[in-house]
Amino acid sequence: MKNSIIFLFILNSFFLNAQVEWKKEKAKCPICHHEQCFFVPAQNTASMDIEAQYQLIFFPFTEHQSVFSCRKCNYSALMDDFFDVDTNFANKIENVDISGFAVGRFKTYLDMNVTDRLLIAEIMYQNKDLDNEFWCQFYRICAYHFERQDYVIEAEEYREKALKLSQKMLTDRNYSEGREKEFLLISGSMFYYLNEVDSAYTYVREASMRTYTGNSRKIENVRAKENLLTRISQQFSVQLRKEKLESLSK
Ligand SMILES: [Zn+2]
Repeated sequence: MKNSIIFLFILNSFFLNAQVEWKKEKAKCPICHHEQCFFVPAQNTASMDIEAQYQLIFFPFTEHQSVFSCRKCNYSALMDDFFDVDTNFANKIENVDISGFAVGRFKTYLDMNVTDRLLIAEIMYQNKDLDNEFWCQFYRICAYHFERQDYVIEAEEYREKALKLSQKMLTDRNYSEGREKEFLLISGSMFYYLNEVDSAYTYVREASMRTYTGNSRKIENVRAKENLLTRISQQFSVQLRKEKLESLSK
């Protein structure tokens, strides 16, 4: 009896975690001021997707609803900076050509393909002053969603870009001091999804042995991040080792 209650509890909590509810909220597009519905998570949910965690992509960016677009003017960005628009940026993107993307009439932005929304967002972001860390994360998010939509070549191109940036940050003391573990893990992950398992194992294993101590340029919960990176890199490292051994025994 006791066991079945525990089992039910585990099952329930898994179900609750896996099910993400998004609620509608009305807001005006910061560019054309057209009022429409956007979807925001009803609660903060832990990502259950281990593949996403290996790529250091977390909820809500694992879900396509998190890429906002205006159904009227097509301005697009990730949900956390969609409304972060100043006059300088608005002027810059006024004449940016996004014709050919997301063509059609849409009830809400969810009817637009997420790959189109991301392509437009990429063009928009090129008009903002964003650092390597932003772009590395954005390219990983793009790769993740493009792959889910079966755009394998595009996903590969985004991963190559993310890999280049993570390697660049790793050698840049400004970024990497105290954060080597994170950039080693991202590099290893990108190598893995680019089918370079040997390099992936080297980087992920190295990441699993380092300690994340944070960097004064960034305010964050260092201990929570260290725990998270340790859990992911250790689990990933075990999986990669297994894959290597299996390929050797073939
Ligand atoms: Zn708009």
